[in-house]
Amino acid sequence: MTPAPSAGGLDPQLLRRATTRFAERFGPEPRPRVAVSPGRVNLIGEHTDYNEGFVLPMAIGKVAVVVFRPRSDRILRGHSVAFDETREVSIDSLQTPGGNDWLAYVAGVVWAFASEGLAVCGADLVVDGDVPIGAGLSSSAALEMATARALSAAAGTAWDPVRMARIGQKAENRYVGMNCGIMDQFASAMCEEGKALLLDCRSLETVPVPVPERAAVVVMDTGARRALAASAYNDRRAACERALARFATLEPGVRALRDVTPELLERGRSRLDPTDYRRASHVVPENRRPVEMAKALSSGDLALAGRLMNDSHFSLRDLYEVSCEELDLVTAIARAHPSCFGARMTGAGFGGSAVALVRTEAVPAFCDAVLSAYKAKIDLPAALYPCRPVAGARLLE
Ligand code: ADP
Ligand code: MG
Repeated sequence: MTPAPSAGGLDPQLLRRATTRFAERFGPEPRPRVAVSPGRVNLIGEHTDYNEGFVLPMAIGKVAVVVFRPRSDRILRGHSVAFDETREVSIDSLQTPGGNDWLAYVAGVVWAFASEGLAVCGADLVVDGDVPIGAGLSSSAALEMATARALSAAAGTAWDPVRMARIGQKAENRYVGMNCGIMDQFASAMCEEGKALLLDCRSLETVPVPVPERAAVVVMDTGARRALAASAYNDRRAACERALARFATLEPGVRALRDVTPELLERGRSRLDPTDYRRASHVVPENRRPVEMAKALSSGDLALAGRLMNDSHFSLRDLYEVSCEELDLVTAIARAHPSCFGARMTGAGFGGSAVALVRTEAVPAFCDAVLSAYKAKIDLPAALYPCRPVAGARLLE
């Protein structure tokens, strides 16, 4: 039996596990505090972020947990439940690059706080969570934002989600050495319950977008992971830059593919390499879809929202060419279910997760049907996560 969509209910067992581990490792008194921050799924707007366009992520009911207690010295002593490991570093000796193990995500946030002139302090902390790692749900941003929430509370810094999202991105870019965009940290830091977040990656303006209660979002992890993803990602970014350079010679005001209109796209066609043209032909319409989907969700037009998701998938598959057999299969199975409004791959592609918009009351039946049909064809550890939008980073106690 598949669980009903989680509406932000933090798993009490997860919380108990993390706080118990804290007491075992670091002692029960003084009582520690707890910060949590959610993973996210991007509903639409794929490969638009680095083209300065729009995305529409939503925080999900799976979180990173940081149980913490400030120390009077400058030592950061962390324990990871997932890796069953305790490590410590001096916060005055943090330098970039700082590695990419679990502690680097925590220490990187401390480093980024200090580099921005914000107060930092030593702390004992336990890191735990139930965002699946590497499934495309951004366990890393969840961990960064839970750490930032904890550190803000421990060091007495006001919580400013926009600033904290930027700090999380800086930690991941510079300290961990991962060239991620800003979407994940924004979604994890500032989403509101019941709402997705329309984010303009150029201006960083955000608009909360209500997701009608009769719709649930089902994340479908295909179980496929491919090393190819990183080189293909760099290759797609390079294609966008080449296309942009051509468009900019036609229209000087064009600073990113976000500025290219459908008319300019056609006008530039003959000057572009055919592959680069295909890549741009994905980005230009895809960039309008988050705004259109935000309108569709706000007006309750779930059929339109689903159609936009399908269109996005076909564009990623045929024009941007970042889908794969598993993503195509799971979305096709989902789409064929009578309770599904639409489905698409989400994240960079070549494996990872897809996302479907589904009638809430039919979610358990949908999940059972999709999982068994997928597993009948593909022997990978697939998993489905029914979700409703939850609030971003918060302190529990
Ligand atoms: P994702 O797509 O899930 O963000 P990343 O590779 O970007 O995958 O980040 C995953 C890394 O983040 C893990 O390898 C680990 O270092 C760290 N991490 C995330 N969640 C946790 C957790 N609950 N406990 C410890 N480390 C975590
Ligand atoms: Mg990540």
